[in-house]
Amino acid sequence: MTTIDIVQGDLTKQSVDAIVNAANSTLLGGGGVDGAIHAAAGPALLEECRRLRQTTFKDGLPVGQAVATGAGNLPCRWVIHTVGPNWHRGQTDPALLADCFVNALLVGAGIGARSIAFPAISAGVYGWDIDEVARVATQAVRADPPVTIDLIRFVLFSVRDFEAFKRVLP
Ligand code: ADP
Repeated sequence: MTTIDIVQGDLTKQSVDAIVNAANSTLLGGGGVDGAIHAAAGPALLEECRRLRQTTFKDGLPVGQAVATGAGNLPCRWVIHTVGPNWHRGQTDPALLADCFVNALLVGAGIGARSIAFPAISAGVYGWDIDEVARVATQAVRADPPVTIDLIRFVLFSVRDFEAFKRVLP
């Protein structure tokens, strides 16, 4: 049985096996939760992301896909990077956003993570409405989560985002 819960707080402080980064396709860091993760993880994370860019993802990580790295100084064991759709660039298909959650879970299960925490992917700089993110995210992870995942947690930074998730996941 997979438990799904929501908490208000800082994703980088979560004691889970893996946290999911709302990265951009360069994988080389950015603002928002991406910046917070790299700041807390330290240079080892950026180094690993650079290596991925030199090997598997020469053109960057495509929207909706996911890839795992170590977690540097973070309390978790892995960071799973995914790239959310950017509303401001016309990436408004909910299926793209659902892919982020589903593929991050698959990658997590593949590396042996049993607990995974997500931010509200695309709800920041990428401009998606938080209610839409909450709806798509919860639907995506509820559909058919890998059986080895015990805990899926949504970590919402603001009260407003937390309330939006609470409305769809009481
Ligand atoms: P995107 O580019 O995918 O929109 P952002 O990082 O800009 O990603 O925002 C995604 C969400 O992450 C936003 O709701 C933002 O408030 C939230 N966020 C920012 N910092 C943190 C953090 N340390 N922990 C959890 N959520 C965070």
